[in-house]
Amino acid sequence: MRLVIIGNGPAGFELAKRVCDHHEVIIIDEAELPFYFKPMLSNYIAGFSRKEDLFQYDLTWYEKNNIHLLAGTRVNKIDFLAKKVFTADAKYNFDVLILATGARPRELAVEGKEFLSMLRTFRDAENIKKQLETSDEVVIIGTGFIGLEVSGNLSKVGYKIKMIGKSENFLGLDQELSNIIKKQLEQNGVEFHLTANIEKIDETGILTDKGYVKGKVKICAIGAVPNKELAEASGINVDRGVLIDETFRTSAQDVYAIGDCSEFQGILCGTAKTASEHAKVLADILRGNESSFDFGFRSSIFKFGDFPISIIGETTQEGKWIDDNTKIFYQQSKIVGAVVLQDIRKAVEMEQRIKKQYSNPNGK
Ligand code: FAD
Repeated sequence: MRLVIIGNGPAGFELAKRVCDHHEVIIIDEAELPFYFKPMLSNYIAGFSRKEDLFQYDLTWYEKNNIHLLAGTRVNKIDFLAKKVFTADAKYNFDVLILATGARPRELAVEGKEFLSMLRTFRDAENIKKQLETSDEVVIIGTGFIGLEVSGNLSKVGYKIKMIGKSENFLGLDQELSNIIKKQLEQNGVEFHLTANIEKIDETGILTDKGYVKGKVKICAIGAVPNKELAEASGINVDRGVLIDETFRTSAQDVYAIGDCSEFQGILCGTAKTASEHAKVLADILRGNESSFDFGFRSSIFKFGDFPISIIGETTQEGKWIDDNTKIFYQQSKIVGAVVLQDIRKAVEMEQRIKKQYSNPNGK
């Protein structure tokens, strides 16, 4: 069976790795690069990781594993009835097509937005790294995980970081946990401008309704938008992302979608961890096993400078600290989520415990 995968990010790559011994696999990606670890981009910018740490699979690896990678090639159209995808100068037949087209950074619609840099790809990282050679003052718009990661790493190596955010809360967490993250970064000299609205951007800084924030390097990290347009233009059902069922099937026969481009009943993916978990389950399905993904359960790990944090399950309920690093969340006296600071091993334990609870809600 021939599988064509569009997208060589964590979703597409993980799937290819897991099915290449059973199927003929072609990956098509418009980026002219083999797979690399996007969560490490801020480490790379700050100088903690080298290029070779990010790129751990070279082109020979693909050849050895019988994966045909078409890097630097954009898919422009899908004909799912004829089972073909079209690039600028060729067409490829498929038995099964997997959309793993990911997402792109959300743009800020404001005067002066051309002065902003985004961070999604290795090229974006190279661009920001270059700008950092000429200035040590950086303004980051957005207090989501990408903004916090960049802030944590760059402040560690001495950059003067200012963060602008709309809310006092970070990552959908409660005020107490948000304050802990804020305090950690403030210890590295990060300056916060919260509940601020951006009015205008110029070469030297950003004007908000709370005052002017100076900084020559300006990074916008206000979220991601699923790349659904290729699917949409080809007649596949989309909403915010490409619509899928719990087995990743789209509205077109033999076409699946995984990772950041996909949407299940209003739930978007958003992290590399979830994108590779999608791939693992789909690989199982493509091997003929009965399997489906539990979209109700989420878990992510981030690292803001020297401060790792794991967010597991539902964390908006009433919470209680069970030790210095672990806050757990309850619903009707059942643990439904946890936030674990620093201790990754504890986070893995908590994840397994809470996952069990999700798959066995009545505790039987
Ligand atoms: P992507 O990685 O976006 O890959 C999609 C690929 O599809 C791209 O390579 C693109 O070129 C290609 N493509 C799109 N359209 C076409 C087309 N028409 N033709 C050909 N190719 C196409 N997640 C975590 O879990 N933890 C973290 O700490 C973390 N940190 C992050 C830090 C940064 C700076 C960034 C940018 C992301 C971070 N993430 C993190 C998020 C994570 O990287 C994404 O959720 C993940 O990359 C999604 O994987 P994906 O394969 O779905 O999509």
